Amino acid sequence: MWRELKPLGRAAESGGYRRYAWTAADTDCRAWFRAQAESRGLAYETDRNGNQWAWLGDPLAGDAVVTGSHLDSVPDGGAFDGPLGVVSAFAALDELRGRGARFGKPLALTNFGDEEGARFGLACVGSRLAAGQLTPDRAHALRDGDGVTLPQAMEAAGHDPSAIGADPERLARIGAFVELHVEQGRALDLSGDPVGIASAIWPHGRWRFDFHGEANHAGTTRLADRRDPMLSYAETVLAARREAELAGALATFGKVSVEPNGVNAIPSLVRGWLDSRAADQPALDTVVAGIERAARESADRAGIDLRVVRESFSPVVEFQHALRDELGRILGAPPVLGTGAGHDAGILSASVPTAMLFVRNPTGVSHSPAESATEDDCVAGILALADVLEGLACS
Ligand SMILES: [Zn+2]
Repeated sequence: MWRELKPLGRAAESGGYRRYAWTAADTDCRAWFRAQAESRGLAYETDRNGNQWAWLGDPLAGDAVVTGSHLDSVPDGGAFDGPLGVVSAFAALDELRGRGARFGKPLALTNFGDEEGARFGLACVGSRLAAGQLTPDRAHALRDGDGVTLPQAMEAAGHDPSAIGADPERLARIGAFVELHVEQGRALDLSGDPVGIASAIWPHGRWRFDFHGEANHAGTTRLADRRDPMLSYAETVLAARREAELAGALATFGKVSVEPNGVNAIPSLVRGWLDSRAADQPALDTVVAGIERAARESADRAGIDLRVVRESFSPVVEFQHALRDELGRILGAPPVLGTGAGHDAGILSASVPTAMLFVRNPTGVSHSPAESATEDDCVAGILALADVLEGLACS
């Protein structure tokens, strides 16, 4: 499976993956998923929101046990974030068939569409739509960097966008959703365990800071006469680091666009995107308010117009305690850890009992071509997932 996935959407220059939603690379990944499903005799379907499903047993029987993750990537992402959960789902099914497991409940394997939000700026679009956390109206208004709307992109990739939206009947058939994911941190490396269970997903969000100044000639405009938005932006980046350190939280400006973006031009506009996460809501509120306050003070001093827009937000997600305890019992009490990364499991947890398994990442690096997991740990993850599926679906 890894051999087939390896070349799909891979950028030769960086060695990273560019599997953005509804692009050719994404279509290739979807074709791979479908082929894997059909080669195992599973009933394949794509739902209204473009999420892929592979069923063993009757989808309408209810109380289904579902596992999977996503195949799309961030810009120059690693091989494991997302695909590890999908590959492990198929491999765990193979393992269970090898064990001669008899399923008492329907089992489904999934690939949720557009999890990373790399193209349209909103994460977990496929699961958000299904769970009714993203309205069709808002989804229709999403645009990529080239001005292509989400429905246009879906249509171009051969998916009918006319029926996107909440899918409560489908979610009502799920008794438990378990997502396996490569850890995006070093907790398991530090504890010396190959596999762990998620406790909660930190609240997190994305904010856009627009600093409007005045474009002018870099060679002829006196420093004192400038309204340079880059300076306020730079001070805001430093403030973000400071505020995050004070609160024990995380804050990152990882994307910036500059107009007119000329070496010899003072910018007219600097637009920076803040990603911030914290263990709880008050800490996150404190960090973001502190960053915004620092940005306003700097902008006011420099005659810059500042606009701050919250583009997305996900509140804290506590995974269902009963299911988490059940996984702990099945797996012999592995470590339980929180995470600052968002996941489809977090979105779905509002609608169905969900849990997550993490596989050790020796460096903690993620969203980068350097993301890694050892083959032994990947196998440990597959066996843990197989044990969980057996415990949930075969009892
Ligand atoms: Zn992921």
